[in-house]
Amino acid sequence: MQPFEFITAADERSAIDAAARARFLAGGTTLVDLMKLHVERPSAIVDINPLPLIEISERADGIVRVGAMVRNSDMAEHELIRERYPLLAEAILSGASPQLRNMATTGGNLLQRTRCYYFRDPALPCNKRDPGSGCGALDGFNRIHAVLGGSEHCIATHPSDMCVALTALDAVVLVRGRHGDRTIPFEDMHLLPGEHPEREHTLNPDELIVAVDLPALPFARRSAYVKVRDRHSYAFALASAAVALDLDAGVIRQARVALGGVATKPWRSHDAEAVLTGKPADRAAYHAAADAALRDAVPRRHNAFKIQLAMRTLVRALTRAAALP
Ligand code: SF4
Repeated sequence: MQPFEFITAADERSAIDAAARARFLAGGTTLVDLMKLHVERPSAIVDINPLPLIEISERADGIVRVGAMVRNSDMAEHELIRERYPLLAEAILSGASPQLRNMATTGGNLLQRTRCYYFRDPALPCNKRDPGSGCGALDGFNRIHAVLGGSEHCIATHPSDMCVALTALDAVVLVRGRHGDRTIPFEDMHLLPGEHPEREHTLNPDELIVAVDLPALPFARRSAYVKVRDRHSYAFALASAAVALDLDAGVIRQARVALGGVATKPWRSHDAEAVLTGKPADRAAYHAAADAALRDAVPRRHNAFKIQLAMRTLVRALTRAAALP
């Protein structure tokens, strides 16, 4: 490991001031891994663990605000999250291992980096790690790669489960930087790879994530997260689906649909939601939604199976959510 400067943030201001020359360290479950692999080589790190961004609270307008340093385990187990946003609790608990969830933070989860094998090996070409070097996955082994949102420069999947639920919920990211505070709607937080896969999100270099707001969404109580993976735990999604249904006498008034494991960013499917709206909550509607969600999928040599898998995962999630009391 190459030497680096280690700075401890006394407060938010000092963290933001240091950000121009340092990487933020929260739980370290991505950054430290990637430093060991020599994929990340920061010259300085600012430890933001002392920052008091650890509250989960309900505001007067019904929004639930989650501090950026809330650990994933604490969020998943919190009463407000379990009762009001069960898909989010399920998504978090399906990710990683208990030890990792005890360390990983809300803000850090948003900035997780891909598990693409080529990205994680500095000996191999990767446009995301080393812009212009090529993409080893396009013509290489791409079984875990994306069928939605890819480009001719990168087809890496976004690895987070939590983010799939957050995009379904229309969460809002609160950030603070040298020029003040701003909010980022969750769908605008992550970028498609396009010609610049090295750009993964819309945060400015000096900006610190301070919280995530979960809008009041009463029908999110009828929600589910289904994840399919190669083994039952401690594995990333091959396909996942986060859904919420607003039902009235068996008819879908509103729906929320997002997919994980198959796309280059947490993938909201407004097309699937439009198909479901106004339809009886039955298998015909779920299959039509699945067709719509995967209509634009582009398979590669080893990952075509993900299209059917994602469709079945979505049908299962919708079936489960509709069956809730
Ligand atoms: Fe790199 Fe993206 Fe290609 Fe993976 S898919 S090798 S992350 S450019």
